[in-house]
Amino acid sequence: MTTPFDYAPAPESRSIVDIKPSYGLFINGEFVDGHGKSFKTISPATEEVLAEVAEADDADVDAAVKAARRAYDRVWSRMPGRERAKYLYRIARIIQERSRELAVLESIDNGKPIKESRDVDIPIVAAHFFYYAGWADKLEYAGRGADPRPLGVAGQIIPWNFPLLMLAWKIAPALACGNTVVLKPAETTPLTALLFAEICQQADLPPGVVNIITGAGGTGQALVAHPGIDKVAFTGSTDVGKAIARTVAGTDKKVTLELGGKAANIVFDDAPLDQAVEGIVTGIFFNQGHVCCAGSRLLVQESIADELLAKLKRRMSTLRVGDPLDKNTDVGAINSAEQLARIRELSDIGEAEGAGRWSPECVLPQHGFWFPPTIFTGVTQAHRIAREEIFGPVLSVLTFRTPAEAVEKANNTPYGLSAGIWTEKGSRILKIASQLRAGVVWANTFNKFDPTSPFGGYKESGYGREGGRHGLEAYLR
Ligand code: NAD
Ligand code: MN
Repeated sequence: MTTPFDYAPAPESRSIVDIKPSYGLFINGEFVDGHGKSFKTISPATEEVLAEVAEADDADVDAAVKAARRAYDRVWSRMPGRERAKYLYRIARIIQERSRELAVLESIDNGKPIKESRDVDIPIVAAHFFYYAGWADKLEYAGRGADPRPLGVAGQIIPWNFPLLMLAWKIAPALACGNTVVLKPAETTPLTALLFAEICQQADLPPGVVNIITGAGGTGQALVAHPGIDKVAFTGSTDVGKAIARTVAGTDKKVTLELGGKAANIVFDDAPLDQAVEGIVTGIFFNQGHVCCAGSRLLVQESIADELLAKLKRRMSTLRVGDPLDKNTDVGAINSAEQLARIRELSDIGEAEGAGRWSPECVLPQHGFWFPPTIFTGVTQAHRIAREEIFGPVLSVLTFRTPAEAVEKANNTPYGLSAGIWTEKGSRILKIASQLRAGVVWANTFNKFDPTSPFGGYKESGYGREGGRHGLEAYLR
């Protein structure tokens, strides 16, 4: 594609990262061989095999849970909050010191642009540890009584879209409250969690406080079902979330579920359109659209729809798709062949159901998993692409005439994780926001995250909150 001016390649160097040929499990402060098989993690941008990673079996899960229990009973739950805080601050500072290494590794294993891992993911990861370090000695102000107690051992399972950020959302509040953890990263993106394990060693974190076990759904199932777990924290798909809820039903395990979304990004006729276009682009093309709170449904007021779409298409034509390690890249690789197949399938269904498909001209790399930024116009509520989560760089455009119609369409979804409102009118922002059944509502911005702000869903988007003071409640009695 020719743009007004072309960019020379600006690749970030890989040499800062040392990827080992194979990795074991991090149990009781040490890397150990698993009893099970191993699996490969690849770079989705090139399909290059990066490393062999151990697949934890039932015995490994048991060893990790027992290590976490010992560390909980003997060390971590007894340690004063101000001492736990020191470890969390230390981890936060090491993350900052090693941020370039973490960002490069995240982009290699996940496929996300280095611009995002460097400027969004890793800074927020460090901020999360700093923020919850600050809470560790102030838990009596968490709103759970004068001497709130931890839950025990937390089993934590995270997805592949923000590997290290989801780890931080899970581990930082758990540790601050005095719990110990066994965390399982997603099978396509285990490498930064294993680097985090090294950071725990570097921080002299007592053995067993953090355990990292790798594997796929079977390992996750074994962790959820293990009787030694007091709390399950899961982020991932609604289907797996439901399965987890069934597994823990009837036990006294506590659960938080952060599931999918199908957010409405609502643009009113008085909105600043250029700013809204940037927000729409951030809303759906940030992180290839692999974002649970992505603004995947654009609801635009009919009178400005043509003008807005013309501006949006012009802006999309300048998005650079390609090498995640190039500092100019806006849209990186789709995380896996499976995810690419799902995005293709739903997009083809959108076309077959009569919606108008458009992508800017763009040359996609020969190897790896790629999908161009795409919009569908003429979408109605009945279309599957308006109802189902695509989890890719695909935007469905719907129109509305009145604010009431916008609210009705926005809420007409089984999900309720996030939403966006674009208007110059402050009173309208407040009124519409109060009518939206969504955990997070952004006004004149989108996809902004802050450790002090709670995040979580309504309906099939799950339950429980992560972040802020609310995030402590999930880890205290
Ligand atoms: P997934 O549910 O298949 O996998 C998520 C994690 O669960 C992985 O670590 C996986 O190995 C594990 N897992 C799979 N089956 C399991 C089982 N039966 N028991 C226990 N663990 C199991 O999800 P995915 O398709 O890899 O990720 C995309 C989905 O995650 C999307 O639907 C997205 O909306 C959702 N997501 C939600 C949030 C949020 O905060 N709400 C954030 C990121 C992703
Ligand atoms: Mn990978």
